[in-house]
Amino acid sequence: MTSSARPPLNRRLAGFGTTIFAEMSALAVRTGAINLGQGFPDTDGPEAVREAAVRALRDGRGNQYPPGPGVPELRAAIAAHQERHYGLEYDPDTEVLVTAGATEAIAASLLALVEPGDEVVALEPYYDSYAACVAMAGGTRVPVTLRPHEGAFRLDLDELRDAVTDRTRLLLINTPHNPTGTVLTRAELAAVAELAVERDLLVVTDEVYEHLVFDGAEHVPLASFPGMRERTVTISSAGKTYSFTGWKVGWITAAPALVAAVRSAKQYLTYVSAGPFQYAVAEALALPESYLTGLREDLRAKRDLLAAGLAEVGFGVFRPAGTYFVTTDIRPLGLDDGFAFCRALPERAGVVAVPNAVFYDHREAGAPFVRFAFCKRTPVLEEAVRRLKAA
Ligand code: PMP
Ligand code: GLN
Repeated sequence: MTSSARPPLNRRLAGFGTTIFAEMSALAVRTGAINLGQGFPDTDGPEAVREAAVRALRDGRGNQYPPGPGVPELRAAIAAHQERHYGLEYDPDTEVLVTAGATEAIAASLLALVEPGDEVVALEPYYDSYAACVAMAGGTRVPVTLRPHEGAFRLDLDELRDAVTDRTRLLLINTPHNPTGTVLTRAELAAVAELAVERDLLVVTDEVYEHLVFDGAEHVPLASFPGMRERTVTISSAGKTYSFTGWKVGWITAAPALVAAVRSAKQYLTYVSAGPFQYAVAEALALPESYLTGLREDLRAKRDLLAAGLAEVGFGVFRPAGTYFVTTDIRPLGLDDGFAFCRALPERAGVVAVPNAVFYDHREAGAPFVRFAFCKRTPVLEEAVRRLKAA
């Protein structure tokens, strides 16, 4: 600490201390509780993909700085993925950028595209790094709250429209949505797209859970709507789709000018990362569709197990249409403070969860909601339910 009274953390980041995920994972380790807080699978992704990483390491591919935009094999695989799944064509050389996870893609996009004083409209609750990155970029976040309606958190399109002002620079969208598990419908996305076109806004859309959708819910990329391809930065990551969250291989796809802008910021953040893993993720992206079907089916069964167990315990349960997470309402248990609930839960029940309030500016709107991750082995989920029932 300096000798002056000025605190070391600058004003832009004041209030962004330790992330809830670090805090809750540390609490899980300290108490030996089952960690249904931080969203990471407790089993690794496909063996063939792991082996591809080992091969790349052994063969000396990616052990030195990879090219700034990402290795050509991975950029080609990302472009092929967008084309195969969504019919969106991107030039691997000018319209794809590999990043250190979706996290860096979010940071670089906001740092590159937001001027100090610009407003960024984001869906609330929002993934925690959005608020911090908007703040680092000197922007102002304008949350639009997803509200419970018929068992899911829904976007009010009038509220979204009203949130856009002359100072709005971009819409920051996330679908499938963390933490609520909401998957925006085609009609909702069409309305978001129309608004973006009408008000000439940029859109940054975080689609890291693009393949984790259940019960026939459909993920439609915002970039696929009329007028959107040229104004949309689409973000995804290998972490969720291939269950390698530790590898931190993410990417953006966007028009050349947007990719160039984001690259300008990205090159001064990490420059490059994850050399050998990039080759492995290129192979992962070429896995047959049956891999994704299997992943979804596995997660759907786990969602059902945890959602049913939580409902039996007495939680109000919002059955998610996508992601790793089920959001619950603790009011049916006679409680209303999710923070206090989550701080006490490891000692009380040996389970860790995350209070949704941390993802809100309007903390009171999120106070009674608590998020549980179901991307864990079945016996772990069963034991968590047993413990919650016994507590
Ligand atoms: N966006 C959302 C919505 C997330 O839930 C996460 C975390 N899983 C990320 C971005 C970060 O992804 P990555 O681990 O690839 O940086
Ligand atoms: N995305 C993960 C979650 O929502 C956490 C990632 C992180 O710890 N930054 O749980």
